[in-house]
Amino acid sequence: MTSKIYTYGHQNIRWSDVISVARALVSPWLTQGPRVAELEQAICQYTGAKYAVVVANGTASLHLAMQALELGPGQEVITSAMTFLASSNCALYVGAKPQFCDIDPATSLMDLEDLQKKITPQTKAIIPVHFAGQSCDMAKIAEIAKAHKLFIVEDAAHAIGSEYRGEKVGNCRYSDMTIFSFHPVKTITTGEGGAITTNQKELYEKLLALRSHGIMRDPNILTKNDGPWYYEMHYLGFNYRLTDIQAALGLSQLKKLDSFVKSRREMVLFYQDLFRGQDRFRFIEEQEYSKAAFHLCPLFIDFQKIKITKRELFEQLKARHILLQVHYIPVPCQPYYQKLGQEPKNFPNALAHYESELSLPLYPGLKDRDLRYIAKTIQDLAR
Ligand SMILES: *Cc1c(COP(=O)(O)O)cnc(C)c1O
Repeated sequence: MTSKIYTYGHQNIRWSDVISVARALVSPWLTQGPRVAELEQAICQYTGAKYAVVVANGTASLHLAMQALELGPGQEVITSAMTFLASSNCALYVGAKPQFCDIDPATSLMDLEDLQKKITPQTKAIIPVHFAGQSCDMAKIAEIAKAHKLFIVEDAAHAIGSEYRGEKVGNCRYSDMTIFSFHPVKTITTGEGGAITTNQKELYEKLLALRSHGIMRDPNILTKNDGPWYYEMHYLGFNYRLTDIQAALGLSQLKKLDSFVKSRREMVLFYQDLFRGQDRFRFIEEQEYSKAAFHLCPLFIDFQKIKITKRELFEQLKARHILLQVHYIPVPCQPYYQKLGQEPKNFPNALAHYESELSLPLYPGLKDRDLRYIAKTIQDLAR
């Protein structure tokens, strides 16, 4: 047994990150300053989107996206049942009704047939979730959205650095906006942080205002101009700003993104090799259109075939310093959502995913011998 402790995800911070942050700390700007603009520019360059707005966290990105689309009461937003709470909570923040669709068991991405069944005259937006870092089939989702005149906001919290049909996720070719999260377990981090990308100038300008109380200073928009101090509030916004200190970390992390993605993909392939030929284990299938920057490495265990329960397996792994997590408890199972009328039984594939999934440790810095130890420990226990 090893003395190391393994978790499912962990940030990768180097001296170059420390130096970048230290420079920001002794600069004239602590909150929103030149590094915020520089990070936004860098995100545009990386993803290929026209505009980027960085904000306090990924959840704030989703909230502002809903707000920028002016969604509200009487309207519905559909997302995946297999996601983090924030993907649907954002609809509730603006008074809209979240609706869920089940997943495709092979990919754990939204099942597009079920998605179409969930569309009603009230549906206004779809939030596809790029689960584990694999992009949804955006061309198909865009077709569905077009037929029903729906907005699309991609939840790419798992997918910075991922590709769809040879282009970077976040370029918004098939969507109105894409959101990212820079929480420490995600592929790159700013401590807390998030971003929204879009190609639409109007949305971009709204997002900028909403990030900072709805304040506008553009003389072309102001209803009058009392002087250089003058500003107007045109929307009910928030303080969702990212600090320059965080942006400094984001800039140095973004430089490493491609190397992080490379090592994550290599690790996933190595895990798949280590578990090959044992039919009680299964991984998600990568689609031919996808090159995923794997945020997670979900392993599915057929507990019908083995003697140990999932709870026992987790406890035994913990005793061996492997602290895993399950992604995710289907959102419709949450008491809050059940009170809103959601019924877990309507999402059989998401439930089956939940029964069998655990996320293997996956982050740059893990060595082949770490992965071998983790795989062997799981294989020995899961019999
Ligand atoms: C992490 C995550 C979010 C929220 O991001 P935060 O930065 O933690 O607010 C949203 N959606 C999904 C799918 C996530 O995994």
